[in-house]
Amino acid sequence: MQSQKQFKRRFSFEFFPPKTDQGKEKLQVVRDQLAGVNPDFFSVTFGAGGSTRDRTIETVLNLHKQGISTAPHLSCVGGTREEIAELLDLYKENGINRIVALRGDMPSGMGASGEMRYANELVEFIRQHSGDHFNLEVAAYPEFHPQARNAEEDLKNFARKVEAGANSAITQYFFNPESYFYFIDRLEKMGVTIPVVPGIMPIVNFSSLVRFSDMCGAEIPRWIRKQLEAYGDDSVSIRKFGEEVITRMCEKLLEAGAPGLHFYTLNQAEPSISIWKNLGISEREKIAF
Ligand code: FAD
Repeated sequence: MQSQKQFKRRFSFEFFPPKTDQGKEKLQVVRDQLAGVNPDFFSVTFGAGGSTRDRTIETVLNLHKQGISTAPHLSCVGGTREEIAELLDLYKENGINRIVALRGDMPSGMGASGEMRYANELVEFIRQHSGDHFNLEVAAYPEFHPQARNAEEDLKNFARKVEAGANSAITQYFFNPESYFYFIDRLEKMGVTIPVVPGIMPIVNFSSLVRFSDMCGAEIPRWIRKQLEAYGDDSVSIRKFGEEVITRMCEKLLEAGAPGLHFYTLNQAEPSISIWKNLGISEREKIAF
């Protein structure tokens, strides 16, 4: 973990672009609550194949102009170089200087894979097209990507993104900090030293957590699964337990030298803010944890 300690800590919150007017109003309230703790940036997801293109742009520009730097996610599957270049220019013109660059997953049934196959090609393309304008974040998988041929290949593929010009990374969420520590150690041994910020998924609902985790390959440890199962429909107990477990994990990560945290908010403020407050991040000026 030594390499990570040199980096300034940064804290961020991720949203998805709302579909309805009601969703937009709700996100505004969530944005205001989260802006109150002064994060370093917000980010907004992008549906692979461009399915949320316009909504992502609208949400990013709207959040960005309200004063907290906002990073669009951008995935390359299903897109052409021309379409991606257009988006990069639009973001640059609007003062956006950070992008989360991804491959994405095409929804099943939508065949075309586009002109770029992997995120390292997207990073390379962004560097060719926009030079050093954007700070580029990429995805990292401490428990390995579900489609990876094997762990070694996945680490090498991560390194390709760094070689192509990624500045930092955000991880898929995990509940086992050891997987993150091991991942960082492996990167150090490979000489790959960029900030790798843990992605944090607050636990608020058991069935949706299981569904998400199955899709993205995040493992829910047996003791967490069993405890959540035992609470049944008791959402108050689920949230309380989830808050304790995730707070404890974040403490461990920060104490070991993780260079910040990125919260998957699912457009809810309260679960992330409770963890943030338990950690005392604002009071400790973010860097002096
Ligand atoms: P890659 O880094 O390209 O890796 C994908 C797979 O291909 C891995 O198994 C890797 O080992 C392999 N691979 C990589 N490069 C090569 C290569 N050159 N040759 C052979 N094999 C290779 N999805 C969305 O659709 N929209 C979002 O907004 C979004 N946001 C995300 C944010 C974060 C922080 C994270 C962690 C994930 C996000 N995802 C999002 C999910 C992500 O798109 C999927 O996990 C996707 O399957 C992989 O994207 P990637 O950028 O990690 O791909």
